[in-house]
Amino acid sequence: LYDRDGWLWHDGDWLPWRDARTHMLTHTLHYGMGCFEGVRAYAGAGGTRLFRVAEHTRRLLDSAHALDMSLAFDAETLIEAQRQCLPRNGLTNAYLKPTVYFGAEGLGLRAKGLTTHVMVAAWDLGDYISPEASAVGLRALTSSWARHHVNISLCRAKTNGHYVNAMLALNTAVKAGFDETIMLDPEGYVAEASAANVFLLRDGVLHTPEVTSCLQGITRDSVICLAREVLGLEVRERRITRDELYTADEAFVTGTAAELLPLRELDGRHIGARAGAPAPGRPIENDSVTARLQHLYRRVTRGDLRDDLTPFAEWLTPAE
Ligand code: PMP
Repeated sequence: LYDRDGWLWHDGDWLPWRDARTHMLTHTLHYGMGCFEGVRAYAGAGGTRLFRVAEHTRRLLDSAHALDMSLAFDAETLIEAQRQCLPRNGLTNAYLKPTVYFGAEGLGLRAKGLTTHVMVAAWDLGDYISPEASAVGLRALTSSWARHHVNISLCRAKTNGHYVNAMLALNTAVKAGFDETIMLDPEGYVAEASAANVFLLRDGVLHTPEVTSCLQGITRDSVICLAREVLGLEVRERRITRDELYTADEAFVTGTAAELLPLRELDGRHIGARAGAPAPGRPIENDSVTARLQHLYRRVTRGDLRDDLTPFAEWLTPAE
């Protein structure tokens, strides 16, 4: 990652990529108190556009505020930095990572006078998930690690330190030969995947966990809007148990990087067997709700907003 040309936005200035270094005693490196976003830009017919950058930036500012980190930059400035990051680096299909962190003015939990910094880095993502992988989907294992509790952490904040828990869970599942993990909240209800929200379909109704232990995903929100407004589906946000995932007709996970990926197997159970879904390892059917939502999400992110998708133009911000 270090050795390439390009520019990175840092506290209002543009730094050459190779010079974007920080001190070893940077507070956030030691205690994990910081927050970030993952934002995507897509090349489409009308040029390069950022997807829901205003909502991502709002979540970043909310995360910083909840963590009591005061930022010297407003949403408008941060959105402009993200837009400019693309042409400055010659990027079209890109992943952007705005990050807020504490400086190196002191160490320890009681450190005083810490400065809050913000940076925006972007890199090429290409087609992150191949069409084959997005049709075949994921085999997952329920984690023995619980997701955060609202009184242990700020679950709505996208906090750096939260990802220790996500990596413990994901790495355990990957070492056991699975693609992904499903994490439960401390009471045993379904929370989310390692870095994606989860949905299930049963008898034509979509269900997703309420936002307590899971992140308030922006893809989750996009999928809820598309399901309700374009497919006319009922969507319920509520507590979900793991056996509801086992016995769902369909299930999928959502996130900025993963977009929308079918969840095909959980703990060795074939999801959708009762509804006649193809076995895990085989592509899902094109008329499944999962495939239809994938298609809508792909269209809306790539700016193909004909007919039923015209109301979603406000989700796209041109890079230039
Ligand atoms: N949960 C977690 C823990 C995540 O890291 C992410 C990725 N940001 C998500 C859910 C999905 O959120 P979004 O759709 O906003 O990318």
